Amino acid sequence: MKSQDVRKQFLDFFESKGHTIVPSAPIVLKDDPTLMFNNSGMAQFKEFFLGNGTPKSPRIADTQKCLRVSGKHNDLEEVGIDTYHHTMFEMLGNWSFGDYFKKEAINWAWELLTEVYKIPKENLYVSVFEGSKEDNVPFDQEAWDIWKTLIDEDRIILGNKKDNFWEMGDQGPCGPCSEIHVDLRSAEEKALVSGKSLVNNDHPQVVEIWNNVFMEFNRKADGSLEKLPAQHVDTGMGFERLCMALQGKTSNYDTDVFMPLIREIETITGAKYTTNEVTDISEEQNKMNIAIRVVADHVRAVAFAIADGQLPSNTGAGYVIRRILRRAIRYGFTFLGTKEPFIFKLVETLSEQMGDSFPEIRTQKALCSNVIREEENSFLRTLDQGLVLLDAVILNNNGDTIDGKKAFELYDTYGFPIDLTALILSEKGLKLDEAGFQEQLQLQKERSRAASKVTAGDWNVIVEDDIQEFIGYDRLSHQVKITKYRRV
Ligand code: ATP
Ligand code: MG
Ligand code: MG
Ligand code: MG
Repeated sequence: MKSQDVRKQFLDFFESKGHTIVPSAPIVLKDDPTLMFNNSGMAQFKEFFLGNGTPKSPRIADTQKCLRVSGKHNDLEEVGIDTYHHTMFEMLGNWSFGDYFKKEAINWAWELLTEVYKIPKENLYVSVFEGSKEDNVPFDQEAWDIWKTLIDEDRIILGNKKDNFWEMGDQGPCGPCSEIHVDLRSAEEKALVSGKSLVNNDHPQVVEIWNNVFMEFNRKADGSLEKLPAQHVDTGMGFERLCMALQGKTSNYDTDVFMPLIREIETITGAKYTTNEVTDISEEQNKMNIAIRVVADHVRAVAFAIADGQLPSNTGAGYVIRRILRRAIRYGFTFLGTKEPFIFKLVETLSEQMGDSFPEIRTQKALCSNVIREEENSFLRTLDQGLVLLDAVILNNNGDTIDGKKAFELYDTYGFPIDLTALILSEKGLKLDEAGFQEQLQLQKERSRAASKVTAGDWNVIVEDDIQEFIGYDRLSHQVKITKYRRV
């Protein structure tokens, strides 16, 4: 089944159950101080759960562009290494706002998966919240009893607060949940190991696909829970993971959501990707695969963020986007040998493939690719230099931990994101003195707070003549930044 049909069948199914289909909210949030990016389908409906305002229908379904790269839900470090966590992904969701509750939600989820998508029942596991003394929330007997009518009891697993109590952020609506996991292991592997312990990602091919949250509480700023004015349902199913299951693959990247991008990366760079079925691969091929996955993933996140109006920058959400792009550039540079901008070229493929469902990626195509190309250009220039400097730092270092001050210099002067430094160090078996880095960062913040009191007239740009190459900032004793240029 093609991914487009997977998406359509989900929406058609919930429409047939009385849901109104709405478009995805933007991936970037501008007016929510508790959240930078949309990290789940429910974020745009948060206020309705809190009892502020009324949705246009008590039953809604959609596919939501999500980004999990900061805050409570941050999957960035997994991306590329595993085959089912992305930075940007689509979350298919259905909601009840004070309307139906556990019985309908669970029964419909089961009907969709087993009767419409025809996933064999014996390949599914579900989990139920075991309860939390700390929060005074009991075991979810009601969900357990409903599941018991649909699935063998030995396929119902109890889950703890970490996995089975869903919270959008540190504050906000939350509640116990029931997750559905799909077992994609081969018959041989199943024969080797079986049983409950496999759920919750103990095995890379037993993957969580759908979370059904029963919204009953609001987490307040002081950490305590209060009952919401009404009970709601909030579900989220990972679209790319569902496509993997329905297309008979064991990696999201092997589906038609990612393959066109991967083929394009292969064409541009000359690198080769091996699908998850090929297990006997060299260390070098493995690194190449990771890099290709990172690039295919990150271009989606960056392009969709730009299309929704978030340009890369040096602060806030813009800096997060810049870091994601730089991470991709660096993986390409190191493992795919790309010394010239190339990621911007993928926007064309992306817009062809996603434009029908998300028209903004088509209308903003030129902006996305121009911005990405410029970012690639400027970061590639400093990357070369920065990597040499980092190598020198490593060479002159004693022990297995790199001084936070040195890492800060790279960050501050060469725009080297700290997670990039940490990544390179970990690849070399070294550690980063994170506390030392944070200390420097804090000092810099204090300095720039002081500097911001200085009038704009204190900013000087020293330009010699001809074409200039930007080489960095100098910080003078009175904390004014001077941009220096060197002739090229
Ligand atoms: P996981 O345990 O795999 O990290 P999660 O429990 O954090 O997932 P939820 O917050 O329950 O995820 O989100 C609902 C669904 O969204 C998940 O069941 C999964 O299918 C999908 N999902 C979550 N995070 C990602 C991601 N980073 N990339 C792709 N799909 C994701
Ligand atoms: Mg997660
Ligand atoms: Mg989970
Ligand atoms: Mg979950």
